Amino acid sequence: MDQTPRSGPRGLREILASGERTYSFEFFPAKDEAGERALWAAIRRVEAVAPTFVSVTYGAGGSSRDRTIGTTERIAAQTTLRPVAHLTAVGHSAAELQAILRRYADVGIRDVLALRGDPPGNPNGAWEPHPQGLRYAVELVRLVKEFGAFSIGVAAFPERHPRSTDWEDDIRHFTAKCRAGADYAVTQMFFDVEHYLRLRDRLAAAGCDTPVIPEIMPATDVRQIARFAELSGASFPAGLAGKLEAARGDRAAAHRIGVEHATRMAERLLQEGAPGLHFITLNRSTAALEIHRHLGLDRLPHERAARPLISSLT
Ligand code: FAD
Repeated sequence: MDQTPRSGPRGLREILASGERTYSFEFFPAKDEAGERALWAAIRRVEAVAPTFVSVTYGAGGSSRDRTIGTTERIAAQTTLRPVAHLTAVGHSAAELQAILRRYADVGIRDVLALRGDPPGNPNGAWEPHPQGLRYAVELVRLVKEFGAFSIGVAAFPERHPRSTDWEDDIRHFTAKCRAGADYAVTQMFFDVEHYLRLRDRLAAAGCDTPVIPEIMPATDVRQIARFAELSGASFPAGLAGKLEAARGDRAAAHRIGVEHATRMAERLLQEGAPGLHFITLNRSTAALEIHRHLGLDRLPHERAARPLISSLT
């Protein structure tokens, strides 16, 4: 087995700072053998279009976390892809988080998405940090930064985090993560480009020029997306929900509607200068790769279209 880490010489920090756009795909750890086979088939299809990076979400606990770590390490060792490891503070002491970072660094992983995470079992329940752990993502950013080996991503919320009392509170805590060392952010899912643009305006007004990569979730299954939206606090436009409802029972039609909506969103986001696109795959990759192809991105995997560089507003 080839153990050579394939994280390229430049970190995401340098890539984004150069004005190059990033195109990326997100997976989650598989639950069983069949899921593992489907996940790896999807990873290999994505590898063929040479994205800037792929990421693997961090589970709520136990075996799912081991699978996140194992999958991320395997991507680093056995593919040409750059893996970004999601990491959350849930249920970990600071020492445990440091041990995971050491393990990642040892296998050549250079990029971490630093998250607080949600209460296990009920994302909307009361948040209790580990007694020897961290309370907010900003503390994890500092911990990762101390390590020195990683580019650091954080979460951003186009409709603000469901627990932020108001926008001022939300932007203040987001910019604290950037000042602590975040190199870029990836957003929560959203289905109306205006939400992303208003967040961009708010950050610009706060003097924050950290690149914020929009997440693209193809809405091809109305019930599944409504559930995700409820859990994440994202609103689901009535027009899109209505079209998907009307297509209920016709999977091909629902797929077309979701892919078309996401493609239009992605086009507009790029026109507006978004620093990249982060596609949710749900370990299937078909819809995400279709959108990627509709945008013509499969034709230029190695020469990324540059985005306009936004000068610092501070
Ligand atoms: P924080 O930045 O800590 O913010 C959480 C809340 O606390 C916000 O309301 C914020 O305003 C507030 N806050 C922050 N700092 C302070 C402070 N000093 N004082 C008072 N309030 C404060 N979850 C997973 O479990 N695994 C994953 O892999 C995962 N991947 C994700 C990927 C993306 C792109 C996104 C957007 C989310 C992801 N999540 C994941 C979900 C995420 O963990 C939750 O949304 C969580 O509730 C917030 O995480 P955060 O890192 O934004 O937390």
